[in-house]
Amino acid sequence: MPLVDHHCHGVVRRELDRAGFEALLGEGGAPPPGTTNFDTPLGLAIRRHCAPLLDLAPHVRPEGYLERRADLGAPEVTRRFLRAAGTRVFCVDTGHHPDELLSPVELAAAAGSTAVGREVVRLEKVAETVARAGAEGFGRRFAEQLAAVVAETGAVAVKSVAAYRGGLELTAAPPSRSAVTAGVDRWLTGASADPVLGSALVWAAVELGLPIQFHVGYGDRDLVLHRSDPSLLTAFLHAAPAEIPVLLLHCYPYHRSAAYLAGTYRNVYLDVGLALNHVGPVRARAVLAEALEAVPFGKMLYSSDAYGLPELYALGSLVFRRALAVVLGEGVAAGEWAAADADRVAAMIGAGNAERVYGLC
Ligand SMILES: [Zn+2]
Repeated sequence: MPLVDHHCHGVVRRELDRAGFEALLGEGGAPPPGTTNFDTPLGLAIRRHCAPLLDLAPHVRPEGYLERRADLGAPEVTRRFLRAAGTRVFCVDTGHHPDELLSPVELAAAAGSTAVGREVVRLEKVAETVARAGAEGFGRRFAEQLAAVVAETGAVAVKSVAAYRGGLELTAAPPSRSAVTAGVDRWLTGASADPVLGSALVWAAVELGLPIQFHVGYGDRDLVLHRSDPSLLTAFLHAAPAEIPVLLLHCYPYHRSAAYLAGTYRNVYLDVGLALNHVGPVRARAVLAEALEAVPFGKMLYSSDAYGLPELYALGSLVFRRALAVVLGEGVAAGEWAAADADRVAAMIGAGNAERVYGLC
């Protein structure tokens, strides 16, 4: 089943030494002295499932794994893992360190001739450029620049990291011009961005009409976790036009809340990307099953949320496929589901829902 990965990033271009590899292996960056990020569910999964793709025995020691990786070189390692992912479309967030990472086109090229890379524009990245010219007229200039970037890149969606910039408690209406100017002024003088500014960016994106992705839950240490709870979006969701898809990314440990919102609001969708890689293949079944408890099957999407390491695209795909097969298979084994329905739901979650929401067909 070819997948649509509706949220991922690029692969790092540079060769990685052990420190560089480990920093990308955990959301907390470099591990403390005396520990290693290989001693995590993700680290063990890489030794188990990625080692054979480098012609190594499963469970090879980290030293041997990294040695083989260095011998093959970054382009070959990237090619092997991206081909193994079996992903047909990559929707790539290009807003975080784009200079260090493969572009959507390069990513797709590494994955094989039939793969496609589509761009997702990060609102805050555009806002940084626009704010450099000052706070005056920010709202209008941001809307113009966002429309221009979307047109230029052919983006399929925009993404908000409001969760990282003051939290998801967005306003139920576009903030006033004076409130936005004051918010940009505060931001330019070194204060962290606040929900007013985050709201202004998202409401400008609403005008554009594209699907809007939100970072939710699981992230790196720039995040204040409780401000990324998706239930904080409730006032915004009540007010936003119901025809604009809202996609909640990652969601763990709020995946059950996200599933509830997806069941309650007709335009809300979710994935449990990133979490599946980090909890590892054994517990991925539980996380996916919890998200699927309450979500309509037309509302769940696949993402790897791979960033930096090519291993994460292959592993994300493998862990997702296996977890989904187990969860749906249990329904069939219990006599509750017809096998044909399980197959149909798998195809919806793996690709069909994303194709429909982003208009990829
Ligand atoms: Zn991401």
